[in-house]
Amino acid sequence: MEVLDGKKVKARILSDLKEKLCSVRKLGLAVIQIGEDEASSVYVRQKKLMADTLGYNFKHIKLSQEVSEYHVLDIINILNNSSEIDGILVQMPIPRNLDYKKIQNAIDPFKDVDGLTDINMGKLSHNVEGLVPCTPMGIIDLLKFYNINIEGKNVTIVGRSDLVGKPLASLMTNQNATVTLCHSKTNNLKDFTRCADILVTAIGRANYFDFDYVKDGAVLIDVGINRVDGKLVGDINFDSVKDKVSAITPVPGGVGQMTVAELAKNTYKAYVLKNKM
Ligand code: NAP
Repeated sequence: MEVLDGKKVKARILSDLKEKLCSVRKLGLAVIQIGEDEASSVYVRQKKLMADTLGYNFKHIKLSQEVSEYHVLDIINILNNSSEIDGILVQMPIPRNLDYKKIQNAIDPFKDVDGLTDINMGKLSHNVEGLVPCTPMGIIDLLKFYNINIEGKNVTIVGRSDLVGKPLASLMTNQNATVTLCHSKTNNLKDFTRCADILVTAIGRANYFDFDYVKDGAVLIDVGINRVDGKLVGDINFDSVKDKVSAITPVPGGVGQMTVAELAKNTYKAYVLKNKM
């Protein structure tokens, strides 16, 4: 059984990116954070660290929980028009009184480094070049790094969020996999997970999937991040499946590492796409 090491792949991605960055101006990444969510602050710090490592100009715009939608849209408009900012993202979650879709879609699609605007989601489902959500793209890059073939494989994804499951289903389909997308209303979930050559779990339930859910020799991609007794664990019970599968991503140290690397890549890609226009 091979452990798919996200840290190693991230290091490779960042070092390849550093070479490309030598020939462009200093790139800018803006992160808008609304409210005091603790996990969000951790994710923003990780993004800043990545930006500092690559020499990106990192703009962290921290807004209060009570900020008006109008004010958020105004800030996005300023960033859209700034020649120093190449990538913009709004850190999730945001307060419920704000219209998530409206805010997301206010971002210039060419600066949408989370790939979550309707335009970029549409491009992905039509297999047209655009900015692709970081976590699903990271999964594809991780599999490619380890020479794990996707074409023709049965891929089961559990979890259908806009952030992970849905864009990953499009990416896997574009890579010629046969894709099954499961969710909380799926009947007989095991029937679908047990026939997966590649099983991706993204439901946010600690250690939910044990050996009974997986096929012999399968490749397991654990996207879930759950905190149990102060420790991070995935959706897959690692110890239960490890002798049955051919490869698995650890939590932490797997997909999460890839997400930050892909954000770095997307910021560069946003610059390239914008300058192609
Ligand atoms: P989300 O928006 O809450 O979506 C969860 C999905 O799981 C939903 O589609 C839900 O179905 C489905 N689900 C929940 N319980 C289920 C069950 N018992 N059986 C089958 N499906 C079930 O979550 P998300 O944003 O995609 O995140 C999922 C997990 O990944 C979380 O732990 C999150 O922290 C983690 N995550 C990690 C990274 C990373 O970089 N590693 C990035 C993003 C997210 P319904 O649609 O029917 O409700």
